[in-house]
Amino acid sequence: MHETALMQNLLATVMQVAVSHNVAQVKHVVISVGKFANILPDALSFAFEALTQEGIMKGAELEIKYLPAVARCDSCSHEYQVAEFPIVCPACKSTSFVIVGGEEVYIESIDVEEKNGIARESKG
Ligand SMILES: [Zn+2]
Repeated sequence: MHETALMQNLLATVMQVAVSHNVAQVKHVVISVGKFANILPDALSFAFEALTQEGIMKGAELEIKYLPAVARCDSCSHEYQVAEFPIVCPACKSTSFVIVGGEEVYIESIDVEEKNGIARESKG
């Protein structure tokens, strides 16, 4: 289940950001998942739940956004979003393409509650 390892990495990044911003509580995490990222959303949600049982992540909500896959036409170099199969270039109707996007997974945004309600980037 590589979703658990993936989520561990993502949450490690969230923690780094949270600590450096003196965050009291992480409330909401939005993660973008490419359509071709080969991720099971249920497994990702499960991993998130399991990894946010304590500390400043406790009770945080996970939101998953899906990014469309993007293909580039081999014949005319037109880039287009892949909505459905078969994949056909809307410009020239070619079925020859390379996938150039839609395999990425990253943190889109984080909603937090700051300590004392004051945001400070650095301690000077
Ligand atoms: Zn084309």
